[in-house]
Amino acid sequence: MCGIVGAVAQRDVAEILVEGLRRLEYRGYDSAGVAILDTECNLQRVRRLGKVKELADAVDSNPITGGTGIAHTRWATHGEPSEANAHPHVSGENIALVHNGIIENHEELRSLLTERGYSFASQTDTEVIAHLVEWELRSAKTLLEAVQKTAAQLEGAYGTVVMDRRDPERLVVARSGSPLVIGLGIGENFLASDQLALLNVTRRFMFLEEGDVAEITRREVNIFDLNGEPVAREVHESNLQQDAADKGQYRHFMQKEIYQQPSALINTMEGRISNDTVIVESIGAGAADILRNVEHVQIVACGTSYNAGMTARYWFEALAGVSCDVEIASEFRYRKFVTRPNSLLITLSQSGETADTLAALRLAKEKGYMSAMTICNVAGSSLVRESDLAFMTRAGTEIGVASTKAFTTQLATMLMFVTALGKQKGVIDPKKEKEIVTSLHQLPAQIEKALAFDKPIEQLAEDFADKHHALFLGRGEFYPIAMEGSLKLKEISYIHAEAYAAGELKHGPLALIDADMPVIVVAPTNDLLEKLKSNIEEVRARGGLLYVFADSDAGFEECEGMKIITMPKVDEFIAPIFYTIPMQLLSYHVALIKGTDVDQPRNLAKAVTVE
Ligand code: GLU
Repeated sequence: MCGIVGAVAQRDVAEILVEGLRRLEYRGYDSAGVAILDTECNLQRVRRLGKVKELADAVDSNPITGGTGIAHTRWATHGEPSEANAHPHVSGENIALVHNGIIENHEELRSLLTERGYSFASQTDTEVIAHLVEWELRSAKTLLEAVQKTAAQLEGAYGTVVMDRRDPERLVVARSGSPLVIGLGIGENFLASDQLALLNVTRRFMFLEEGDVAEITRREVNIFDLNGEPVAREVHESNLQQDAADKGQYRHFMQKEIYQQPSALINTMEGRISNDTVIVESIGAGAADILRNVEHVQIVACGTSYNAGMTARYWFEALAGVSCDVEIASEFRYRKFVTRPNSLLITLSQSGETADTLAALRLAKEKGYMSAMTICNVAGSSLVRESDLAFMTRAGTEIGVASTKAFTTQLATMLMFVTALGKQKGVIDPKKEKEIVTSLHQLPAQIEKALAFDKPIEQLAEDFADKHHALFLGRGEFYPIAMEGSLKLKEISYIHAEAYAAGELKHGPLALIDADMPVIVVAPTNDLLEKLKSNIEEVRARGGLLYVFADSDAGFEECEGMKIITMPKVDEFIAPIFYTIPMQLLSYHVALIKGTDVDQPRNLAKAVTVE
């Protein structure tokens, strides 16, 4: 789930390993560590609770020379964040390993290994792998064979890298449910949980597949599949940009970030969902207990994050059966509120430094909340540090001031969280869970389909260039998506936009409708569609200009005053995330036509760290 880096080289690898960890920091973690076989073939291990910087300082002040090593950033799932629980873990003097993921049968294996005389130095599930490898090596001929035999006994999700002091120029890796890539160098090879970690040492990668076990030396990479048969994996030349602060092929960061959403969402979900379940432990150590006891959720956020919270509220109540309130942080923090029993406070923020949200968290701690969780994009930020649980969105650096990928990854994170909560509360049964998880698996590909609407939406944007106002309408969980659409348009095109729950039209905004007021409607097929159609008629009857985003089942026909953008049909669970994309594209193209500063709209800042 977090970061793995490994290297077999002739040069010293300590700096390469630590730099690799730095590049994976965005994923969130609580501790970091490195183990290197030094020139005397001794295992040198350094681990630190906290930031990679602390690990780097420790390694700098006590340099380790050696060409074979492994490194890890840990996101605790079993056992508290501490130096003793940080990876690499060892067995005896010879075996060291790092592991991403969760070993589900660790308790059983722990008793077995204890009977065999092993003693445990940590509370992690990971340590069983180290001792199992040590045990298997007593009869196996090679480290590879020992890891294959070990892998056969593990249940759960893992990406692991093993090093043996007696075989100093070799690393053995195994992948099952947690990604690993091998980076190919010249006379040296590397591996990592994400190619980003290695972009400064190579651009040639092989991606391991499920069940693969591989041995890596300076000159060779031998891969074996689930059945132990040798397999070849294609070599890919990476075209990833090294630097997040580089627009690459895109004209603006916002555009780049809109297009990064499929890969950002893959990152968000990685290691957190299996084929048909949400892995509750991936929310963090102790999450299962907290979720079982939650009776009410209070979400506090600002801006785009508030819109994400508003969307999630529909999920909390409809899917998990847990009551949920959402409030703007600057209001929440200054009013006298009543804390309901067993309430979980959830703060949402891209930066983790949003001043009002942080103040709300601090206040809530004094007001008897059962627990506080943050959903956040920046590891080590104040919200992450000060919350009991931090469920990272892993969107990667977001530079455009108008949030895009941070919003959709927040939504995906919330949907996973709601599913885990519903499951713990016994409200979501395995069938329902599977339906939701199946939709989540489809999400990145569906977002690609939504992005394919770029061109038609660009054309549509022409209609908005001379407008001064716009109205966004939606119902149910699409109302907050309309809110987010209107916020995007305001932020970057400076067109005054409002979002209304469509049922509210008659209570005021209908008075504004005329041919100069474009009305954007988010209208996928669902239980509320017929109601929404009546609202659309109300607008039409008053000469309003409608832009309806719907799917083919919704049965709209284009006519005078009403343009229909027919999107592919997607599962109800992910539809709010999907319909966010055309809203982002619309505001982006309108801003382009208007010539505004898309990435840095006037008067706005990226992280609102002041009240
Ligand atoms: N389950 C392991 C632990 O708690 C690994 C967590 C991770 O993926 O970082 O140590």
